[in-house]
Amino acid sequence: MTAVVATRPRTGSGPRLEVDLGAVADNTRLLARRAAGELMAVVKADGFGHGALDVARTALAHGATRLGVTSLDEAWPLLELGAPVLSWLNAVDADFAMATARGVEVAVPSMQHLAAVAAAPGRTRVHLHVDAGMARDGADPSSWSLLCRTARRAEQRGEVEVVGVMGHLGCAGTPGDECNALGRTRFVWALEQARAAGLRPRDRHLASTAATLTDPRTHHTMSRVGAGLVGIDPSGSTALRGAMTLTAPVVSVRRVRAGTPVGYGHAHRTTSATHLGLVPLGYADGLPRAASGRAEVLVRGLRRPVVGLVSMDQLVVDLGQRGVDLGETVTVFGPGDAGEPTVADWAAAAGTIEHEVVTGIGARVERRVLGATHLRSLS
Ligand SMILES: *Cc1c(COP(=O)(O)O)cnc(C)c1O
Repeated sequence: MTAVVATRPRTGSGPRLEVDLGAVADNTRLLARRAAGELMAVVKADGFGHGALDVARTALAHGATRLGVTSLDEAWPLLELGAPVLSWLNAVDADFAMATARGVEVAVPSMQHLAAVAAAPGRTRVHLHVDAGMARDGADPSSWSLLCRTARRAEQRGEVEVVGVMGHLGCAGTPGDECNALGRTRFVWALEQARAAGLRPRDRHLASTAATLTDPRTHHTMSRVGAGLVGIDPSGSTALRGAMTLTAPVVSVRRVRAGTPVGYGHAHRTTSATHLGLVPLGYADGLPRAASGRAEVLVRGLRRPVVGLVSMDQLVVDLGQRGVDLGETVTVFGPGDAGEPTVADWAAAAGTIEHEVVTGIGARVERRVLGATHLRSLS
């Protein structure tokens, strides 16, 4: 008999992204308390990079009652959780027949989408989607009343059931912006048009995270929140808890003299004798190259600057006079409790928003999920 040798590679010594579902639970409870109506957990883009199923399950256990995603492909895996799922961004030839068969609700932003959904066998539950003033997704107001009347006829034929009307605000992150008043007014007008066409949509939803936190006039019967679940408040009004911590080991340390050029293009020169630490994370892992020369990390309880250009796979940290041991852990970002930079700090350093940082963490970073009540590992 030959011995069976363990062939699974050892993991755990490289970069790691820890997702804290306890934070998602706390944020969900806060948002559910603030929302006047139901709470839909938006878990598009893999739950804003935090794991769609994990975020969805946690949100449903702490106050959310519904799930929302963009594409139908994002919807299918969520069905096992048993909550209603809405998908709002699909090509006109998407598999609406499968959506109907599996009970996924779909948004209808145009006459062509309505025709496609109505043609699918069965009776699809739809949310008519109006553009509330950002010229992005949703039907143009000029076509809205026709869309409502046509949807009503399709409803009478048993082809669809109009269960909702939705809109989205373009400037909710800036609560005082007059664009929000316009969006609110247009949404109320859209609801009146739907009613006049004979529709009786049960779900009327306009607010996402920012408006849920700042403007009860937008709440209607439901809020769709995504960013807030994972600790991002685009309005900057509320302290939510970040759910990601990104760490990596120092893989090498070198002592250098003042005036040493660092990295591609010699974009940085040391100003004094110091230690440079190499961290195996780069822009392929989602750390924005635009943050080069501005971002910091936490090493041994102290903030240390990222120096030179962030490379594809690695970055260099100025560790100062004392250096660190090989293998010591660097915290790139986290909720901020221990003085580490936050996702907001990295976003500011890169001139972008937190959403782009959290959704960009690459596939080769090992993930650990810290449960809402217990610790478990995905690896
Ligand atoms: C992403 C998205 C949301 C969620 O917005 P957050 O600001 O992340 O809460 C809601 N509605 C639509 C249409 C979206 O695309």
